[in-house]
Amino acid sequence: MNKHQRAKLEGILESLPKDEKDRLYEDARRARSEAQKRRRSKSRETIDGERVGRGKRRPDPLIDWVLRLVDKEYAHKRTSDEHAEEQELAQGLVVGLTRRRATVLLDGEDEPILCRLSAEMAGRQQSAIAVGDRVSVVPLDLPGEEEQTEVVNVLPRTTKLARPDAHDPRQERVVAANVDVVVIVVSVASPPLHPRLIDRYLVAVEWGECDAIIAVNKADLVDTDELTETLKKLDPYRDAGIPIAVCAAAPGDDSSSRVDELRRLLAGKTCAFVGHSGVGKSSLANALDPRLGIETGTVRNVDQRGRHTTTASEMHFIDNPEEFGGGEIRVIDTPGVRFFGLADVSPDELRWLFPEFEQYVHSCKFTDCSHEHEPGCAVKDAVERGEISAVRYDTYVRLLEELRTGGKPKDVSERIRPKFDDLES
Ligand code: GDP
Ligand code: ZN
Repeated sequence: MNKHQRAKLEGILESLPKDEKDRLYEDARRARSEAQKRRRSKSRETIDGERVGRGKRRPDPLIDWVLRLVDKEYAHKRTSDEHAEEQELAQGLVVGLTRRRATVLLDGEDEPILCRLSAEMAGRQQSAIAVGDRVSVVPLDLPGEEEQTEVVNVLPRTTKLARPDAHDPRQERVVAANVDVVVIVVSVASPPLHPRLIDRYLVAVEWGECDAIIAVNKADLVDTDELTETLKKLDPYRDAGIPIAVCAAAPGDDSSSRVDELRRLLAGKTCAFVGHSGVGKSSLANALDPRLGIETGTVRNVDQRGRHTTTASEMHFIDNPEEFGGGEIRVIDTPGVRFFGLADVSPDELRWLFPEFEQYVHSCKFTDCSHEHEPGCAVKDAVERGEISAVRYDTYVRLLEELRTGGKPKDVSERIRPKFDDLES
């Protein structure tokens, strides 16, 4: 939340009676402790089957949780009576989204239904609701209308994948909600691998509290030596506990496709594929399940006049064979996930988004050390000793600079415009 929103919510909180404030604090304390438990129980599994703990702690003040509750319960002038009513409403999962409508799979149903969004929600659509959200719905009685149900409330998210608005980088756009694993796709060749590009995605993944996997695709295009050489470049990420899956989506020939490692890592999870254009995100999803038939290739999404068009946001369900861990793999496929920026992250918060700094920060001479120019910095010492990757540290310093100068990425070509506007037009 930005400063302005925060001030507004603090105002609302102040105006509440004491017992209501106490209740909010109590609920917030419970929600935070559940989230912490969830985080602790989440551990990462490497391809060798080893489990690696997250070992990460970031400041998580209770007041933030209280303000989030205030936002949810009061900011849109919902009375507590209405709120109690909502608790009774049918709930479901958003599996598709366009500008004014959501496709919702209600709990216990097999077929999703088309719902309209409440006016308030439609107005804030790109942050208020995303594919993967759990929502409450109410029936409508509108003869002749296609939608007979309205989404009235979005339940709290466990994780999110977000990027800044192209017009206002301080504004956050939520691209996908409740994502367990973000698959950062890179290719060994065509385009060649630039490890630095991974960092930007990782920061966003940490910010949204998702887990990450790096999928190294197009392994079929290089020989074993070249593959080994390329994988070495990813050692800093492997050391940080991020699983790395070597893949070949091998278009048009699933007999030679190589996605088993990835399948195992995604068993029973909700995931989203991110990465630069042409690395094979769509091909990988198709290789997991050829029935998805997601369009691939660089001409996709460009109409005859060369304009970019949009595909809708969707969640795909893939049955996963027992031999690969069973369960269902849910893939969130959305337009506009290519660039994730640092919306809402302050320079102070950035250091908490580099998990490998964690074990050193408490030894810095200054408690508010930015690990940049201060003397007695344990993080810089660890970089000197080669215990923290110099490449990752360098990325940290560059991102820090970027945030201080207004959150705008220097390379404008990396940014994409929100495309929701073209939907339903
Ligand atoms: P996206 O933009 O990341 O979704 O990439 P696509 O899935 O559209 O793939 C881009 C191009 O790379 C297409 O021409 C694919 O056929 C090709 N491709 C994808 N994965 C592989 C792979 O594992 N091996 C090879 N040789 N080509 C691939
Ligand atoms: Zn330091």
